[in-house]
Amino acid sequence: MTDLFSKFDALIAERQALLDTGVRDPFAIVMDEVKSPTLAIIQGRPTILLGTYNYMGMTFDPDVIAAGKKALDDFGAGTTGSRVLNGTYQGHKACEDALKEFYGTAHAMVFSTGYQANLGMISTIAGKGDYVVLDADSHASIYDGCGLGNAEVVRFRHNSVEDLDKRLGRLSADAQKLVVLEGVYSMLGDIAPLPEMVAAIRKHPNCMILVDEAHGMGFFGPNGRGVYEELGVEKDIDFVVGTFSKSVGTVGGFCVSNHPKFEVLRLVCRPYVFTASLPPSVVATAATSIRKLMHAGDKRAHLWKNSKRLHAGLREMGFTLGTETAQSAIIAVMLPDQETTVRMWQALLEQGVYVNMARPPATPAGTFLLRCSLCAEHSDDQVGDILDRFRAAGQAVGCIS
Ligand code: PMP
Repeated sequence: MTDLFSKFDALIAERQALLDTGVRDPFAIVMDEVKSPTLAIIQGRPTILLGTYNYMGMTFDPDVIAAGKKALDDFGAGTTGSRVLNGTYQGHKACEDALKEFYGTAHAMVFSTGYQANLGMISTIAGKGDYVVLDADSHASIYDGCGLGNAEVVRFRHNSVEDLDKRLGRLSADAQKLVVLEGVYSMLGDIAPLPEMVAAIRKHPNCMILVDEAHGMGFFGPNGRGVYEELGVEKDIDFVVGTFSKSVGTVGGFCVSNHPKFEVLRLVCRPYVFTASLPPSVVATAATSIRKLMHAGDKRAHLWKNSKRLHAGLREMGFTLGTETAQSAIIAVMLPDQETTVRMWQALLEQGVYVNMARPPATPAGTFLLRCSLCAEHSDDQVGDILDRFRAAGQAVGCIS
């Protein structure tokens, strides 16, 4: 039978062949109980969570939870409407105020997810006849934003300043260009050379810069704003996009900016206008978390310590990692093929460690990897246990000697 689903046949067959080897489905894990930011019960087994975006461990913060419960009691379960109609409550404004303070910007706009923030920002400001110049390894939401807006897409080689410069040089000086970068690239955990990129972009006229700081918010820079703050290019960035689904510990997305006409986006940005706003409990938890992240120096320090320790330990065992040193809270363990990756993933799960399995097309250049992401709430003992279990799993699967 041929129908609209026929195009998925190869994928269905590949998946079935993998499951027939007896491994568990890495994309069908259920957390039966979640005890803390770093511990869950998966199929009856206490499991250390090493594959979440909960970098700052805010999901169980008592103040964050209390704020959410209060908003649920005071304002109900949902807004049942768009931000531009009945869906803006005082909590949405308070959340935007918290963001403006956190980022030191004049404007902040909250979206229902980070995906929608990229989709909305890119598609609305770069339309037909404009250019979006982006890193080849950009997140799916950035590519989808280009598609929705119908701009011409120009890709440059991942993190290559030279290629970025060259491709900008080929575009007409009169054309309006949006350059989209990410502070941290989430598959390998590497960071962008933003100062060098900004310098290259500044040589070309009519360029604006948007940086996605999804994986940098909370622990890069003196105020936790992201890699662009850490590397000192705040004044050069026109738009910062971020998410509440990582360091903030809930769900939602945003863009902050000092552009004088920014507020017009509330009227013309389709992924902002044509969807329901976040529930009051979510914006209350986000605002409380963002304010606490302004004073989270100790957590930041512990997160960096965890990341560096895991990186050094895995490297010493002989694993191939995505970066030479720990550049962020993400450490990617590179593996040769899908089968080894799934076997290693399963061996870790059986030892009580959950990591993300990533495969093409999410990963760059056809690579298979296990993505480990650290949390500020991982204890020293947990990081020790993670290292012991990686050694045991790696030896059992034959990835290390
Ligand atoms: N940008 C990047 C770089 C991301 O990694 C993600 C999510 N993984 C998003 C945007 C989307 O964020 P959200 O989960 O809030 O939709």
